[in-house]
Amino acid sequence: MSHHKVAIIGSGPAGFTAALYASRANLDVTMFEGHQPGGQLTITTEVENYPGFEHGIQGPELMDVMRKQVHRFGAKSVYETVTALKQANHHFLLTTERGTEYHADAVILAMGASAKLLGTKGESEYMGYGVSACATCDGFFFRNQDVIVVGGGDTAMEEANYLTRFCKSVMIVHRREEFRASKIMLDRARKNEKISFALNTTIDEFKGETLETGMKKMTSVVLRDTRDNTSREIPIDGVFVAIGHQPNSSLVKGLVEMDESGYVLTQGKSTYTNADGIFACGDLQDTVYRQAVTAAGSGCMAAIDAERWLEGKKG
Ligand code: NDP
Repeated sequence: MSHHKVAIIGSGPAGFTAALYASRANLDVTMFEGHQPGGQLTITTEVENYPGFEHGIQGPELMDVMRKQVHRFGAKSVYETVTALKQANHHFLLTTERGTEYHADAVILAMGASAKLLGTKGESEYMGYGVSACATCDGFFFRNQDVIVVGGGDTAMEEANYLTRFCKSVMIVHRREEFRASKIMLDRARKNEKISFALNTTIDEFKGETLETGMKKMTSVVLRDTRDNTSREIPIDGVFVAIGHQPNSSLVKGLVEMDESGYVLTQGKSTYTNADGIFACGDLQDTVYRQAVTAAGSGCMAAIDAERWLEGKKG
């Protein structure tokens, strides 16, 4: 069983920045990177709003650079998912999916958030067979085809714009008329000739067929106008669901306080959770800003909070 000063669970901008600050404070740091090392930015395209990159940077590249920077100061990465976290005497016991156990004096939670799905009939059946939650991962497969992007936030606008590189047409289906998307990204989508909008519209059903090869294929969706409840079925090759995210907090259910959506609650302006020695940062606890740069900033705060808390325990 290995013992570490600080265990960081998660490896997006929050986890990496926490690891950077904690390792530069000479603490022995282990990062549990899980199954999606680098977090959500590894499934995004261009990041234009992370300061320091005049011409933007690809999400996966940004995460790769952050990881290398962190390793330079001695933090270690474990590419496993933590499946259990418990308080045991004066330390924390972390167990990974392989059953390996680790001890840590302090824990920084940085598990981020995951893409939400609609939960509509046929969605899970055709997931990976026409339905996707990641344009960067799957857009390439829809070259010269007609697709839908669901959502009215920045993710939907970004994915729609990105998909026009490959696809013949992109229809943004949004359940109301107002958008959460920032003006610049909405304007960019509006100006793109390949993008059309179906507002006040939801998808009621995903339909498809089973090919001779036995593979499934989504072929159409049933759209409903929310104003008069009229439905129409349209043929479509792909649907990208881009309706936001949910916090990956199931690991700490019952261990730290959360809000009704599962976001971890932190105290005041700090990253302290209600559990002594457990700190939270990034999208896991942020319902407002949810940006790479704010996640990184809160990762820095968590490392400083953890360092001072560990220092206080000595005295
Ligand atoms: P948001 O929460 O901002 O938007 C989610 C969208 O999905 C909303 O329009 C919402 O509709 C819609 N939606 C949610 N649930 C459903 C549902 N069940 N059925 C139909 N529609 C639904 O999430 P985003 O992922 O777009 O953005 C999250 C954060 O990340 C934001 O702060 C954003 O600015 C940032 N971001 C920044 C980028 C950049 O700068 N490059 C790129 C991508 C994201 P409604 O409005 O009606 O609630």
